[in-house]
Amino acid sequence: MIDLILWDIDGTLMDFKASEKKAIKAAFADFGIDITEEQTSLYSEINDKCWKMYERGEIERKDVFTRRFYELFKITNFSCDVEKLNEIYLTYLGEKYVLQDNSLQVVTSLKGKYRQYIVTNGHVKPQTMKITDSGLGDVVDGVFISDAVGCPKPEKGYFDYCFLKIGNVDLKKTMIIGDSLSSDMRGGNNAGIICCWYNPDGTENKTDVKIDYEIKSLSEVYDVLEKIK
Ligand SMILES: [Mg+2]
Repeated sequence: MIDLILWDIDGTLMDFKASEKKAIKAAFADFGIDITEEQTSLYSEINDKCWKMYERGEIERKDVFTRRFYELFKITNFSCDVEKLNEIYLTYLGEKYVLQDNSLQVVTSLKGKYRQYIVTNGHVKPQTMKITDSGLGDVVDGVFISDAVGCPKPEKGYFDYCFLKIGNVDLKKTMIIGDSLSSDMRGGNNAGIICCWYNPDGTENKTDVKIDYEIKSLSEVYDVLEKIK
């Protein structure tokens, strides 16, 4: 039986792509730049690439926040104070969160039956803001943000830190639920816990990452928890 659930936030409990779009548009508007839908998608691709580079240990976390805009500027010929833009963007990212489907209800319904923690890679400011404002912060037992932990998922050290803080962790009774193969599922493999891949688009797993359960909607978590009983 599962005792401890680790939830990813972006792309799992929250629709990161939707909030990212809103935040990027608002941030650029503050600098008098009207960013198009196409340019927003381009930013999103560059951002994903930068985070993957960070996950592989190729660049430092602080570089993600500026590099993503410098790369976009190279292609679009925009220019403004990147540090300032990033700060404003992070504020909007915290404010303009979009919950994924019925995520709040699912997590709320599991409260008391399972210990639930949020495990997220990202910047403390927007992550804290949206976790608090969305109500998720009141429902879960705790939050671990990579920025504050000192290393990201999928590193084993990240999970070691979480487990030390959580206490009384039985790896066989611990499950991570997340959308990312490279951070959540690989992280789960590294930590030696049960991996539940939230894969709403039905993407094929072409990696060597081991998946124990796969769900297309968050409500399917109930079936998974029932199966493990
Ligand atoms: Mg995610």
